[in-house]
Amino acid sequence: MFEINNLIRKNIKRLKPYSSARDEFTGKASVYLDANESPFDTGYNRYPDPYQNELKRKIGMIKDIPVENIFLGNGSDEIIDLLFRAFCEPKQDNVIIMPPTYGMYSVCADINDVPVKEVNLKRTPKPTFILDTENVEKHIDQNTKLIFICSPNNPTGNAFQHNEIEEVIDIAYSKNCIVVVDEAYIDFCDEKSILPKLNNFKNLIVLQTFSKAWGLAGIRLGMAFTTNNIVKLLSGIKIPYNVNQLTQQHALLSLRKANKKNEKVKQILQQRNILIDRLKQLNYVHTIFPTDANFILIQVDDAQKLYKYLIDKGIVIRDRSNVALCTQCVRITIGTDTENTQLIDAMKTFQNIDKK
Ligand SMILES: *Cc1c(COP(=O)(O)O)cnc(C)c1O
Repeated sequence: MFEINNLIRKNIKRLKPYSSARDEFTGKASVYLDANESPFDTGYNRYPDPYQNELKRKIGMIKDIPVENIFLGNGSDEIIDLLFRAFCEPKQDNVIIMPPTYGMYSVCADINDVPVKEVNLKRTPKPTFILDTENVEKHIDQNTKLIFICSPNNPTGNAFQHNEIEEVIDIAYSKNCIVVVDEAYIDFCDEKSILPKLNNFKNLIVLQTFSKAWGLAGIRLGMAFTTNNIVKLLSGIKIPYNVNQLTQQHALLSLRKANKKNEKVKQILQQRNILIDRLKQLNYVHTIFPTDANFILIQVDDAQKLYKYLIDKGIVIRDRSNVALCTQCVRITIGTDTENTQLIDAMKTFQNIDKK
């Protein structure tokens, strides 16, 4: 049976969270002399709301999720780290990741001294990547606390089917284990989000971010959607003011202009189609993997040579050829029309050089 209390680390269960001035007095006063702040108005002399209530209300409205099911972090990366700290006893508990996938899961695991079990995705002839559910199930043991699914997956680009993801969540539930579904790229394929089904699961954490479609990687704001129990747990162990005032304000401004984000997403998706058509014309591009994100994974003759050639032309893509199942693959982020044209022009000249 799934029981969240059996998952939390002992030291965290014992923890008495830091109580800030803003925790101890939450009402409205006319004179604030409780937090050792400067009394002189700089616009930022007061500590920010540690629970980001206004921001969460706005996000909750847009996502149709109650505020008590939302946790915000200094990027999703902070949230990933907090999950290790909340649930994984160092050297004892373990997590499952599904390579090729986002690198931060294993880096956070290493930092927290938590062993990682790798269960590779399956590459199908289609060609795309699917979850190896059977193998994931085999690898879950008594100490497995977290299973990370990235959908759409970085670096392969594809989103997984709901039935695939839900099967893993169900298996994890029966084995008392949490599933983290990282939807960093979900705004590029809204309909594929698992978020509307959040209520069906007690062991599901959905991560989203302002870093990609919202175009706000610089402000560092990540979101977790999950049960109120897990939100409360994470709120108790985060540093008190993890989302700063500038970030909260800027995010609120951007949320008012959600149309702008949607317009940019549309442009990126158009550019993605154009880029795919052009890539198809290059004889050294063997595979263009289907993508639901703002990047494309392709397999070429010689990934490293292409990568270096493009660097010489001032164009940086990501060489992923050393990653599991990605032999001779590079990952290309969709840029502007001009940037993509520059890329394709350079890739055409590479084709000609390559023939000589
Ligand atoms: C880019 C990315 C993130 C974003 O992390 P932030 O800390 O919110 O910027 C999270 N997960 C995946 C898979 C990513 O590719």
